[in-house]
Amino acid sequence: MGERRPVVIDQTTCHVAGARNAASVSLAELFRSDVFDDRAMRTRLPASVYESLCETMNRGSALDPRLADIVANAMKEWAVERGATHFSHWFQPMTGHTAEKHDAFLSFSGDQPVVEFSGKALVKGEPDASSFPSGGIRSTFEARGYTAWDPTSPAFIRRGTRSSTLCIPTAFCSWTGEALDTKTPLLRSSEALSREAVRLLHVLGRTEVRQVFTTLGSEQEYFLIDRRYFVARPDLVACGRTLMGARPAKGQELEDHYFGTISDRVLAYMEDCEEQLWRLGVPVKTRHNEVAPGQFELAPIFERTSVAVDHNMLTMDVLRKTALQHGLVCLLHEKPFAGVNGSGKHNNWSMATDAGENLLEPGTDPGQNARFVVVLTAVLRAVDIHADLLRAAIATPGNDHRLGANEAPPAIISAYLGGELDEVCRGLIAGSVQGERKGTQAMRLGVTSLPPLPRDSTDRNRTSSFAFTGNKFEFRAVGSSQSCAGPNIALNTIAAESFRHMANRIEELARKSGLEAAVQQVVQEELKQHYRVVFNGNGYGAEWQVEAEKRGLPNMRNTVDALEHSACAANVELFESMGVFTRRELESRATIAIEHYEKHIAIEAQACLDIAATMVVPSALQMQQRVASSVSAARTADSTLDLAPQEALLKSISNHVSGLLRANAALEQVTGKVDSVGHGEHGIGRAAFIRDQVVPAMARVRELCDALEACMDDELWPLPKYREMLFVH
Ligand code: ADP
Ligand code: MG
Repeated sequence: MGERRPVVIDQTTCHVAGARNAASVSLAELFRSDVFDDRAMRTRLPASVYESLCETMNRGSALDPRLADIVANAMKEWAVERGATHFSHWFQPMTGHTAEKHDAFLSFSGDQPVVEFSGKALVKGEPDASSFPSGGIRSTFEARGYTAWDPTSPAFIRRGTRSSTLCIPTAFCSWTGEALDTKTPLLRSSEALSREAVRLLHVLGRTEVRQVFTTLGSEQEYFLIDRRYFVARPDLVACGRTLMGARPAKGQELEDHYFGTISDRVLAYMEDCEEQLWRLGVPVKTRHNEVAPGQFELAPIFERTSVAVDHNMLTMDVLRKTALQHGLVCLLHEKPFAGVNGSGKHNNWSMATDAGENLLEPGTDPGQNARFVVVLTAVLRAVDIHADLLRAAIATPGNDHRLGANEAPPAIISAYLGGELDEVCRGLIAGSVQGERKGTQAMRLGVTSLPPLPRDSTDRNRTSSFAFTGNKFEFRAVGSSQSCAGPNIALNTIAAESFRHMANRIEELARKSGLEAAVQQVVQEELKQHYRVVFNGNGYGAEWQVEAEKRGLPNMRNTVDALEHSACAANVELFESMGVFTRRELESRATIAIEHYEKHIAIEAQACLDIAATMVVPSALQMQQRVASSVSAARTADSTLDLAPQEALLKSISNHVSGLLRANAALEQVTGKVDSVGHGEHGIGRAAFIRDQVVPAMARVRELCDALEACMDDELWPLPKYREMLFVH
């Protein structure tokens, strides 16, 4: 028992491994030193090739194939200087993770080995890759997958223990052109957003704008536990979360971990991660202890979305791998431990023009204010109409434990604007500015300035799923283990559609009544129609659930509800009209998400059964035996002893064990039925059965295990406890 459940942690073995000393190299020198960035390209490529490549990178246009060999060769030389022996197309299939297959730079000239990397190998790869989820798209031979270089995201080096690998960010598509990854639709959604935002800005008279980029800063929360606890918990190994575990005496009640002193061991780990991430050009900025014990956060400086998504995928990878070198395990699951906060990933989203103007920045002059109000109105309209899509984009089995659980935003999608901006919007709807400016003339967009909008200083926005925080929206309901691609595909696409709608309306009205009046009228009408999505109150409160229902806002409480209509006719129409997904692509993604839910819970159910049957029950029987013999020995020794409380203990343990055996049998029975349940009209029949039957059956098993844990001999308990895992670092 003792070996499987380490109690004494020898920290001395855990400090040194993997820790490097970054102090000798300046951060500026380190930053991007493993990225084939602009500086590397400029120094290593002929000027004309460099310029073509820049054009390709900025515009997302195709690279002239004649230049590919020159670029590939320069990349290879740069990589070999950094110890690279291999290259890999690095992509993001629909597993939610990254994928890589390494090839050595090896070929032969006659019988002489040569180090070679061709333009062809840079631009296109043909991994077999037949085992990635495709939701039915790849059932035909023609639908084989290939990887294609995404020049908008720079190549980088991953360092191994003996050598390094040149990684080339790629998109993964079928030969018929259908997306098999998360990157392709993300790039398409960025294009759609740019196209529609530029058009809207042109309608507003801003004809100098040629391109609009979305920006993303993703704050990443995670837990760290000692690796020796992790390996002794089959639930953490198989599912990434604990399926049972009694509440510790102390959880996060005192909130003393939040922003507390970072322990030396954790700090060494963070420093190690940061050094690697800086080399990879990931602009990691902030580190701190989070609110739950054992929970931490890392935040980067925002970047263009496609690069920021790649960087977040790399961040999660580095966090996981580096932990092992420090004798730790990094848990990215949304809810590793019941009873303390789970982990999220705040998705800070905005848009900027090619001149660097943030479209969600209120600005200082009336022109900028008008642009801001139009963009804000379009975003609110998008969130109101397509709340279901945003909800579906964050629907995962892990997130089901967080959303609406008084620690994360509710499952209702609403937007928070803060007091001042709310006042401005209400003024625009009413046709006059209220509040402090009451009595003054109506605000005329493009003529009057907005009142100054102080950065929101209240805590209210924390309870909102989509909060305006000064010059960006923070989509706070994204799960910690998720790729940011899905949420940003949804945001970009719905915003693009809304920009198109606003541009059409303003353009048409402006012909009759002039631009200024058209803007005023469209903003007023759209705000009025969609303002129900704005909620500045406490999103955790029970009243909000009631109020949201009155307003007609959807409240999809779990993954299955959220996915049921995700490929409905209106969504197909939206994604097709924006050029982001075809019907088949959208349907395949819904299928994959539902399958993911089913498989995930099946694994949890199996792990729960195993642990209960092979670890908890045998230990509890030993405990029962011990109490039984001690009661009977005491009775024999002295018949006058008061043994009632001890008999009650025996009874309680026996009842819990019998209850657990029954609960386990019930869980086994429902899991046995899953395969015979059909998928039904929307493909969610089986998932709904799992949600309604398997999930509650697992909860019952947990309840009994936790009750046993609370009355068992500590020595006999076969699993590391919350009080150990969460606090011993
Ligand atoms: P807050 O404390 O309000 O959450 P921070 O300044 O800490 O705000 O920023 C949180 C995250 O938002 C950071 O990753 C930051 O880089 C990012 N962010 C800031 N401005 C933008 C923007 N214009 N677009 C996208 N993300 C942004
Ligand atoms: Mg934040």
